[in-house]
Amino acid sequence: MQSVGNPLFLEPFWLQHAATSAVVTAGWHRLSYSYPDDTNISKELERVIHKLHAVVGNAVTDNRYIIFGAGSTQVLTAAVYALSPENSSLPAGVVASVPYYALYRKQVEHFNSQKFKFEGDAHQWMNKSDSSKYMIEYVTTPNNPDGRLKKALLQGPNVNTIYDRAYYWPHFTPIPAPANEDLMVFTLSKLTGHAGSRFGWAVVKDETVFNRMTDHMELNSMGVSRDTQLRAFKLLTTALKGDGRGLFHFGYHTMKTRIMAAYAWVKCEREEDTDCYKVLQAAKITGRAGNAFSAEDRYVRLSLVRSQDDFDLLIQHLNKLVSDEDGVN
Ligand code: PMP
Repeated sequence: MQSVGNPLFLEPFWLQHAATSAVVTAGWHRLSYSYPDDTNISKELERVIHKLHAVVGNAVTDNRYIIFGAGSTQVLTAAVYALSPENSSLPAGVVASVPYYALYRKQVEHFNSQKFKFEGDAHQWMNKSDSSKYMIEYVTTPNNPDGRLKKALLQGPNVNTIYDRAYYWPHFTPIPAPANEDLMVFTLSKLTGHAGSRFGWAVVKDETVFNRMTDHMELNSMGVSRDTQLRAFKLLTTALKGDGRGLFHFGYHTMKTRIMAAYAWVKCEREEDTDCYKVLQAAKITGRAGNAFSAEDRYVRLSLVRSQDDFDLLIQHLNKLVSDEDGVN
């Protein structure tokens, strides 16, 4: 059993809406480059994203800028770049609180920039006296892997925060109020399940930050595929048809039966089970080891967003593991 975060639990919804969500593009269509502001599809997609957030009530988007990326993965890079100081001899320190999604660290290390440097666990930077240092904190809320509603740990005039809101949808968590942060990142991958289309977006308050993110997108990939934009537009308009809640009802009711979080963050409590991944692997359950989230290997993340068959198999294997353990003790 694999434990990748592929959101196949949404596949039945799209099977029910196969015709209305289909996109057909003729060969002659859309040969031109896609620059951020100049295409109708970008404007229409932006409009539907505003509507989406208003219907769901999960983010304030009035008078905010929206910027697209190839998945939230590209948007996250643009955000780090845009929030780094332009004229500082020292790089901004980039942090996230453990356990955190590994990509944040890997990206920053990979880009190996003079503008920003990964500096580990945000907990280590709380109450540090050097407030002149530029810091960027990733706050994933709800969090991958443990589903917690994280809060920013760092505050101060030189601290910027990137709120990764990938999982702030009714499938995964209650939505008590719209998020209202300066820089929020969302992704189609966890909303409609279309991870392969590579579409994400940021909702940005500050114009300078937005312009710098736009510069990054231009240099990095000259904007986002218009084919992808068209697909995203079609999917979102289908999702918002009728009372606009079909996809969310489906997502909510499916995930409610699976404890309503994208992942289960499992801890092996027995003293000898220091490698929880191995324990589960022996029971035919493949999770992702705690160290992938900079946490202890007593923890493993299990994906709950896969297909119903995968989920049923997971529960079957877990039940067997528990009954075998009971037999031993
Ligand atoms: N942020 C978080 C917290 C994630 O879990 C993921 C995917 N697992 C991403 C961002 C990246 O998603 P994508 O690039 O598909 O938008």
